[in-house]
Amino acid sequence: TTTFTYQFESQTFTGNVSFPTGVFIDGKFSAGSKGTTIDVINPSTGKVVTSIAEGTPDDVNRAVKAAKRAFDESWGLKVPGSQRGKLLNKLADLFEQHSDELAALEALDNGKTFNWAKAADVAASIGVLRYYAGWADKIHGQVIETHEDNLAYTRHEPFGVVGQIIPWNFPVMMVSWKLGPALATGNTVILKPSEFTPLSALRVCSLINEAGFPPGVVNVVVGYGNTVGQAISEHLGIDKVAFTGSTLVGRKIMEAAAKSNLKNVTLELGGKSPNIVLNDADLDLAINWSVHGIFWNHGQTCCAGSRIYVQSGIYDEFLRRFTEKAKSLKLGDPFAKDSYQGPQVSQIQFDRIMGLVDAGKKEGATVHLGGERHGNEGYWIQPTIFTDTKPDMRIVQEEIFGPVAVVIKFEDEEDALRQANDTLYGLAAAVFTTNLTKGIQFAHKLQAGTAWVNCVNSLQPNVPFGGYKQSGVGRELGEYALQNYSNIKSVHVNLGQVIQ
Ligand code: NAD
Repeated sequence: TTTFTYQFESQTFTGNVSFPTGVFIDGKFSAGSKGTTIDVINPSTGKVVTSIAEGTPDDVNRAVKAAKRAFDESWGLKVPGSQRGKLLNKLADLFEQHSDELAALEALDNGKTFNWAKAADVAASIGVLRYYAGWADKIHGQVIETHEDNLAYTRHEPFGVVGQIIPWNFPVMMVSWKLGPALATGNTVILKPSEFTPLSALRVCSLINEAGFPPGVVNVVVGYGNTVGQAISEHLGIDKVAFTGSTLVGRKIMEAAAKSNLKNVTLELGGKSPNIVLNDADLDLAINWSVHGIFWNHGQTCCAGSRIYVQSGIYDEFLRRFTEKAKSLKLGDPFAKDSYQGPQVSQIQFDRIMGLVDAGKKEGATVHLGGERHGNEGYWIQPTIFTDTKPDMRIVQEEIFGPVAVVIKFEDEEDALRQANDTLYGLAAAVFTTNLTKGIQFAHKLQAGTAWVNCVNSLQPNVPFGGYKQSGVGRELGEYALQNYSNIKSVHVNLGQVIQ
């Protein structure tokens, strides 16, 4: 086990962060079974900040043993829901106390701005933990009337040991979305953070101990997808796997589950969300939200409004003002007060995004803004806007996961709806109009798990979120997410029925 120590000096956070790192199993940090490490890179500079223990499939085995023991002895339905809720609330308190530190780690490791990390990622994490803390003692089945001689009821039992695999775009927030419902319902967890952004999850491990969770209830194994992720997906001792990440890997997880023990699978996957602006939209509002929809978090948002359909009557003005606003976004040090956009998370993502930008250029779309790297070091990309696209171009069909918007003119509303739904994905969609009836009609016809009217990126702890089509299976957040982590048992008690 090593200690991560880092001195942040910036306009918004000055402090020293120091905490143990390693493979976190049974409440203790250790080296991985191979003794190897993973470099943690600062995406603003491309330089190594520290190295952390690399987890392995053997470590997953060890974690599963600890989680199983914890489930049998000190968690699950053995612990009253009120106690599970109390610990989740304690964890939320600790997130609150360490908000600056957690936000600073996100800024360092992911490249998102400190201000947004604190106001959005960390604040939302606290909200989600508290929301599920509230559910922990309100989980109950039903008594179902059948006939006089039978008592039938259901119990919502935890699965047992669950695996959770999360991405790098919202590292700490994904920890809370995953841990909240799993722990509230009484499961024990093996969590695998992304190998690109492990720091905040490792910091959370110490907070889990401090909150007082019994050892083994939460285990965190940082490692690569094709080793640790694969081991979790195919593990016979894991009864459920919850995954957030790309559609490509989601398919692999489902396949591994099918080939092993048919473990329950929930998936939150990618998107290519449409954002429709009608002639009668409030333009100021539509432009501000549309900019936020695609450029916030540097476009690395699964529900990013990356396809912007604008009706012909306002197209020219929208494009002009949308472009002005995009130009005004300040790219800079994630710790600086006035920065809006930091770097992309990694060299791999940088190359992927620039590859798609090049594809857009080659396929004949117009680069209306940006289209190039920003600066000389790290993984920065200029806010980019494409126009003159065709529906089958890669930049219109594929998830870019970067600060790249396509703006598309349309005449007819039905046509906009058809184009908006012409995608493999169905995570989110938005419409801007001052005609609320029309807005609601669009919301109902858009094929997506979330439809926004006159806003984007609105997520609440108590409102479900998840995908239609190839954007996912199951729902996170809200009461619905409890179902992801509960096995329903029906109990029949004979009260006098006789059989000969
Ligand atoms: P990714 O699919 O490459 O990786 C996600 C996680 O899966 C990582 O922890 C990775 O190590 C692991 N992984 C990789 N290969 C694996 C394998 N073979 N078996 C098991 N695990 C494996 O995705 P990413 O690049 O980290 O994240 C970006 C993607 O996540 C985007 O497509 C984005 O849309 C999606 N995403 C979706 C949501 C949502 O809620 N729907 C939220 C955030 C991100």
